Amino acid sequence: MTRTGYVWHEIYSWHDTGTYAGLVPAGLHVQPHQNFENPETKTRFAGLVEVSGLLSHLHRISAEPATLTDILRVHTPEHVARIKAESDDRGGDAGDGTSPFGPGSYEIALLAAGGTIEATRAVLDGEAENAYALVRPPGHHAVRDQGMGYCIFANIAVAIEWARANRGVQRIAVVDYDVHHGNGTQSIFEADPDVLTISLHQDRLFPPDAGMRHEQGIGEGFGSVINIPMPAGCGNGAYIDAIDRVVAPAVRAFAPELILVASGFDASAADPLGRMSVTAAGYRAIAERLVVLARDVCDGKLVVSHEGGYSAVYVPYCGLAVLEALSGVHTGVKDPFAEIWDSSPVHALTPWQDEAISASAKLAEALQLIVPAAATTRGAAPR
Ligand code: ZN
Repeated sequence: MTRTGYVWHEIYSWHDTGTYAGLVPAGLHVQPHQNFENPETKTRFAGLVEVSGLLSHLHRISAEPATLTDILRVHTPEHVARIKAESDDRGGDAGDGTSPFGPGSYEIALLAAGGTIEATRAVLDGEAENAYALVRPPGHHAVRDQGMGYCIFANIAVAIEWARANRGVQRIAVVDYDVHHGNGTQSIFEADPDVLTISLHQDRLFPPDAGMRHEQGIGEGFGSVINIPMPAGCGNGAYIDAIDRVVAPAVRAFAPELILVASGFDASAADPLGRMSVTAAGYRAIAERLVVLARDVCDGKLVVSHEGGYSAVYVPYCGLAVLEALSGVHTGVKDPFAEIWDSSPVHALTPWQDEAISASAKLAEALQLIVPAAATTRGAAPR
């Protein structure tokens, strides 16, 4: 059993994304409903963590708000000031016109970034081997000068800069398996050779035309960005293959001191936004591989921060599977959807999925981000 940290705070569910009909605002011929990004997926995940009994095996980490200094290491003062002003008034939008928030979301967003910092702190200080920060709003789309895609502040980027400023960590790898491209994290670190960002995502889903293979970092950071755009329809087979053939060898070659994971469950078979078919068993397999990888390269130091995932009924089982893999605790709670989805032929790797994954692997290889296992030396910085 591993000591696994866990962050959750009730107020994450008070972040109000308004009256929507999924992706579009309610209106004359659009009956009011919820935004796809609503509290349910997270509160039900937190609920299952408790009801399953797993909570009593986890090391609770209290969420503390990120300070202005923490946020300003990543974001522009103008962005932060605008979010605060709108939040102090009646609420506003994170920046792209489709990411509404209500009054008080500034403070909640500080707590989301701060929750990811606290999880990172606990892991770096040896309080926990690994940790899951179940935070909201998410962060991986937020760029330096604005939020977008439901994200206000870049939680993982803020935690990375905190770790560098306060714990002297230098080399960090980010693995993003949210179905959408981790454009914010990429843009913040694309010129930085010490932060490797890897994003596995559905090809050109969101942001449109982002996360292409040829985006490989800029200037000194060239080679520190890996994108794995996957065709719609991928199941567990393709995801596991991408982890084995691209993510794991690249992270091993990079030899980071810490791995952060952007954990979105919107590649799930039940998601209204993604067009993938990953199941809880797939997420468990991914997480088990990341645990092994972290143990091999950085003494197990793995911090997972929650991102997207919009199926209220299925996200809890995907999340529980990841937390079980991190902690090594098996609650015995079965994924009730497994019988319906796990035997689908969609999980076999197809030739076109193989081709997409191979193309990303080849690019990473060319950049020496993937080196033959025998040549990998810990601490070597191949680029
Ligand atoms: Zn997403």
